[in-house]
Amino acid sequence: MKIKSVRARVFEWKGKTVPPQGNFCSNAMDLVYSNTESMSTFRFHSWTVVEIETDDGIIGLGNVALAPAIAKAIIDQYLTPLVLGQDPWDYEYLWQRMYRATHAWGRKGVTMAAISAIDLAIWDILGKSVGKPVFKLLGGRTKEKIPVYYSKLYRTNLDEMQAEAQKYKDEGFTAFKMRFGYGPAHLQKGVAENLKSVEAIREVIGYDNDLMLECYMGWNLEYARRMLPKLEKFEPRWLEEPVIADDIDGYAELNQLSSIPISGGEHEFSLYGFKQLLDKKAVSVVQYDTNRVGGITAAHKINALCEAYSVPVIPHAGQMHNYHLTMSTLASPMSEYFPMFDVEVGNELFYYIFDGEPVAENGFVQLDDDKPGLGLTMKTEFLDQFNIIE
Ligand SMILES: [Mg+2]
Repeated sequence: MKIKSVRARVFEWKGKTVPPQGNFCSNAMDLVYSNTESMSTFRFHSWTVVEIETDDGIIGLGNVALAPAIAKAIIDQYLTPLVLGQDPWDYEYLWQRMYRATHAWGRKGVTMAAISAIDLAIWDILGKSVGKPVFKLLGGRTKEKIPVYYSKLYRTNLDEMQAEAQKYKDEGFTAFKMRFGYGPAHLQKGVAENLKSVEAIREVIGYDNDLMLECYMGWNLEYARRMLPKLEKFEPRWLEEPVIADDIDGYAELNQLSSIPISGGEHEFSLYGFKQLLDKKAVSVVQYDTNRVGGITAAHKINALCEAYSVPVIPHAGQMHNYHLTMSTLASPMSEYFPMFDVEVGNELFYYIFDGEPVAENGFVQLDDDKPGLGLTMKTEFLDQFNIIE
């Protein structure tokens, strides 16, 4: 079996979107003076889909959501020539070819995300070529089904947030992640608002359900040092990305500071990036995303590393490329779950582009033992609501 063609297309959403609301989610741009709304940098309204076809007619699907147009250019100009005519079963060799050929300017960020998309499509081909789901090639089923946590609860008014938490608690979810709306730029008033929102959600979900707290890199170390002791009484399962991804020493300090475990990794890349986080005890929960970290070939190695460090892997975003990794290892006890909503942040677009994404039932998703590959197909229902760039 040989790779015959690689096609990367950008799907740019032009349909209806929910406008950003003030203090929706703290983020890394909050600390930078700007005349534009900081939430505008926190929306991902296009996605790159990669289709790799083999000489025996199998088509593998991969995807990348970081800087889609740049990812497509990297795939078209640099990565495609490295995999054309090659055997997809030589996935480690192909991964090393892509990683090392782009090493002078790649390594992390959008280049690794582009490599991830190719790698995902390759694994989809491997599964389809032997009629097995990808998780069966990685270690197989380690769980009856995958526990998932409800991930939304952006900062709106507290009544709306409470109603949202109640609705999904009634649907059977037992773990919830909420977003902080405020950071250092909002001074002491923002501290009080942040605490009020956590209290409001705990009031609805109680203490026999898990609560995760998301900062999305919107705080700094000094602010996080002040916040953590105030948050301990709410017993969060973890506090996510308190500071920017490059401040690894900051993560390490915060992770030792209180009883609250610090999580991160959705903006970290490759086996080496995670070795550094684990060596420094910077995170107590690893949250790579397979479509950024280097694909399944890299994520599978990171799972092994996390197993050895006894640090759980709870991948960013859920979605099929991550569920297969969670299903196949004991290092991963659960996964994130973005529910399908009208297009808002952009995480939802996955549902608009692909068919086959599992819908949570009672706080679990299930993978089919008999569905080959990643289990995704292209969806036709919303095609007219995208600009598609070849
Ligand atoms: Mg996150």
